[in-house]
Amino acid sequence: MNSNTRMTRRAVLRNLGVVTGAILAFGASSPAATVAAPGRRAAKLRRSENTRKQIFRHVFKTPMVDTHEHLPDESQRLQRAGAGSPRCDDWALLLSHYLDSDLRTAGMSKVDLDRFLSPDVDPMEKWSLLEPWWPAVKNTGYAQAVRISMRELYGVENLSAMTVAKVQTAYDRLRKPGFYQEILRDHANLHSCQVNCLTGTPFRESTMPTLLMQDLSIVGMFAGPAFRQYAAPAGIEVKSLADWHRVIKWWFEKYGKYAVAVKSQNAYARNIDYARVPAEQAEPGFNKLLANERVSVEERKLVEDHLFWYAVDEATAHHLPVKLHTGYYAGQNGMPLSRLLHNAGSAADLCRLSPNTQFVFMHICYPHYEELLGLVKHYTNAHVDMCWSWIINPIAAKDYFKKHIVTAPANKLLPFGGDYIPVEPVLGHAVIARQGMAQALSELVEEGWLTASDAIDLIEPVLNGNAHRIFQLEKKTELLSRAAWGT
Ligand SMILES: [Zn+2]
Repeated sequence: MNSNTRMTRRAVLRNLGVVTGAILAFGASSPAATVAAPGRRAAKLRRSENTRKQIFRHVFKTPMVDTHEHLPDESQRLQRAGAGSPRCDDWALLLSHYLDSDLRTAGMSKVDLDRFLSPDVDPMEKWSLLEPWWPAVKNTGYAQAVRISMRELYGVENLSAMTVAKVQTAYDRLRKPGFYQEILRDHANLHSCQVNCLTGTPFRESTMPTLLMQDLSIVGMFAGPAFRQYAAPAGIEVKSLADWHRVIKWWFEKYGKYAVAVKSQNAYARNIDYARVPAEQAEPGFNKLLANERVSVEERKLVEDHLFWYAVDEATAHHLPVKLHTGYYAGQNGMPLSRLLHNAGSAADLCRLSPNTQFVFMHICYPHYEELLGLVKHYTNAHVDMCWSWIINPIAAKDYFKKHIVTAPANKLLPFGGDYIPVEPVLGHAVIARQGMAQALSELVEEGWLTASDAIDLIEPVLNGNAHRIFQLEKKTELLSRAAWGT
């Protein structure tokens, strides 16, 4: 019996404790109440409690595919190397992504946040920086993920002045070679993660290639474009749009078979309303960008739209699903909320423009998830990835999950991605997601939408099978296990 089984049982029991407590609060499960209640009602409640237990157990013991992370390789994390890697290497790191945003929104100053995340401040002094803001943020999904991770990994129930030393000691004890495997597989019971590398390279040759599978980032192929980043590794001097096409092709030829998907987060900069633009119309703007000259908004859009489709057509030819950010923005004080409203409508246009491309729309387009549900119900080539959503708004995510099951085909749902740079909170996020899915399925049974066996039959395919099919994980695992860069 490994630590995974231990963790799983602990988490199940804890969650069941909540459930059983809720039923007890109604007075039906206590012996006295059972006697007092009409027999049929008591029997129904007992059945419902048993079904919940069964569903929770199944959801927690089933391995899950994690379809979106930004994790650096473990060796990078241990060396604290590379952009996107943590600033500090102490317990505050667990709060650096995404809880830092809630702290800033709550009112913490940038100066204090920078000190909190600084490698030069004593970890023992950091609690006093956090303390004024902790009551305001400690119940958000971002904080709950951190708190669950501290509970499961460090054995600390409550972060406080009294427990910071214990948290720091446990942080150091865990942060050793092999801790990615321990957290992701043994504790979180994840089959594999799909990583969108943020350290500047479009595809990372991970030393853990079958645990940290990789997306090929296409955003710099069309936005910017990121000439140096993509052209230098390809060894191609870019003097024309045709040269740039060759650069794009080089990345697909070299890494297409190893990548699980392609990914773009360009929705942080504009709407995803990419029109099919012929090369001739994009070329003048492209040449200006190449010469580092100013371009108009219209010229830039022509270039981006043309190159987006050039990259997406390559992805489609290489049987790679196209993952696109939709909805909510990370960070604070920058999100143009009105732009998000158009994401789902534009996503539908993409599905129509390229029926052979498998699109994966990420983050349930939060807060516009009803629109995305309408999209995935209607389009064969649309899929929804719930990555990040369980900690943005855990109750909305549960609501989406319930509605998806009774609205759109279940084989188009990818239920989890931690979306983290630090590895520790992935566990907390996975527990929140499993708890939300188990609650959603239990409620669907209790409300009469599903039978218990219908609910249980969905667990393996949704948590595991869908991602295996959509991203060809068996084939990719086989190829990656023989990749030259694996150890
Ligand atoms: Zn992400």
